[in-house]
Amino acid sequence: MQAQTKNETPSLKAENLAQFLQTEFKKYRSAADFVSFKMIREKTRDYSVRNGKAEDLTEFVDLGLMIEVMVSGHIGYGATCELTADGIKRAFERALNMTRTSASRAVYKFDKNIRPAVQGTYSTSRKVRLDKLSLTEIFDYLKKTSLGLKTNDKIISAVSDAMLIECTQNYFSSEGTEIFQEFDIIVNSMSATASDGKESQTRSLHGGRGNCIQGGAEYFQLDNALRECETISREALELLTAENCPSETCDLILAPDQMLLQIHESIGHPLELDRILGDERNFAGWSFVQPADFGHLQYGSPIMNVVFDPAGANQLASYNFDDVGNKADKKYLIKSGKLEAALGSLESQTRSKISGVANARSSSWNRAPIDRMANINLEGGDLSLDQMIAKVERGVIMYSNRSWSIDDYRRKFQFGCEYGKLIENGKVTKTLKNPNYRGVTVPFWNALSGLTTTDTIESYGSPYCGKGEPSQVIRVGHASPYALFKNIEVFGGG
Ligand SMILES: [Zn+2]
Repeated sequence: MQAQTKNETPSLKAENLAQFLQTEFKKYRSAADFVSFKMIREKTRDYSVRNGKAEDLTEFVDLGLMIEVMVSGHIGYGATCELTADGIKRAFERALNMTRTSASRAVYKFDKNIRPAVQGTYSTSRKVRLDKLSLTEIFDYLKKTSLGLKTNDKIISAVSDAMLIECTQNYFSSEGTEIFQEFDIIVNSMSATASDGKESQTRSLHGGRGNCIQGGAEYFQLDNALRECETISREALELLTAENCPSETCDLILAPDQMLLQIHESIGHPLELDRILGDERNFAGWSFVQPADFGHLQYGSPIMNVVFDPAGANQLASYNFDDVGNKADKKYLIKSGKLEAALGSLESQTRSKISGVANARSSSWNRAPIDRMANINLEGGDLSLDQMIAKVERGVIMYSNRSWSIDDYRRKFQFGCEYGKLIENGKVTKTLKNPNYRGVTVPFWNALSGLTTTDTIESYGSPYCGKGEPSQVIRVGHASPYALFKNIEVFGGG
């Protein structure tokens, strides 16, 4: 096992580098109608252990600069990882020339108001910084949890892995903006695959995505993790002898770790304003949502309240400012079931005259910001989980996403989960394997008829939301209670 390392950190220390960029910035700040510099440094450590043995150890640092310019109301970009006076000069000239050339074919002529002047900072809420966690400590944790998953000879694969990311961003602009944000990010997943020679079933921590949070080294509590290992392993074995999910129309309860994907695919993506405007139709797709739907469309039942919330203490996509320096605040996207606002950045809001949020986000220093999700959360209701189950005459509870499919207008979808439970006459009666369901976005959300209370809300995320040309993979967070939907088509699988 050997550490792989790429894009080594330049010899300049972070604070000296920020100072160097400030000095360089002064040379260019008046060379266009608007200029901004954004430096992003990201250190990633990626570790994996299978059946108690180390499999993967990758460590790398990615560091670079994004330059944004505005010429004649048109915005353009130039990026470089060569952080020298010459490297910055070449990137700036590239940005300026490209923007001048393309300004005559601009979709929209902006003014500088879409880059307001702000100053501020953000730091992940944590007790112990991630950089305090040693290689030995993290591998010890992963080895013990991997072995904790392997409770039986029928568990043929027990994987525990962790990705630790330390990210800093320095941003300043010709309007006077100065922002510093730093993030400590943890993606920790565990999975157990059980096999009896005929049947094979995998159970994992929240559908393979595991825990995706912002937080510090204090997250790694072995006792908690070993309890999770026991549950994962027991449920994987249980699935070997479970009945297949029936095919019928009945009530459906989704656990928060499946709601993660349900919210992501059927609320998050269709509400991205650049998709609604058609910018993404060649790649990520369009949306069934029309500009005229905002303020009118009854997206779901009256108990449905969905927020863009960048302030969730340990949610994966929390921040104070988006990647163009727009201050991020909580906002209702859907209130009492009615569609209110879009996931649209300042540019998309200006173009469409539709209310949006601070969500211009880029995956790294070498990508231009586009309209993204961040933390998109469903608010709680008034039921305990037992009360919700008691309301169901016949239905299925589904946990942990394992497959998904949705058309590029985000209208028709089909999801598969790892683990199900049958409900008969208000009681949970048996475990079901291969549970799936399908629906159509607006009728499905209008079938929402119960939510568990705020204290039952669980928060998950994904580090891998893909979109854009060239491709960008970004981190998103989704928090949700348990949700009850009436008369949904469920079915089993092979
Ligand atoms: Zn996505």
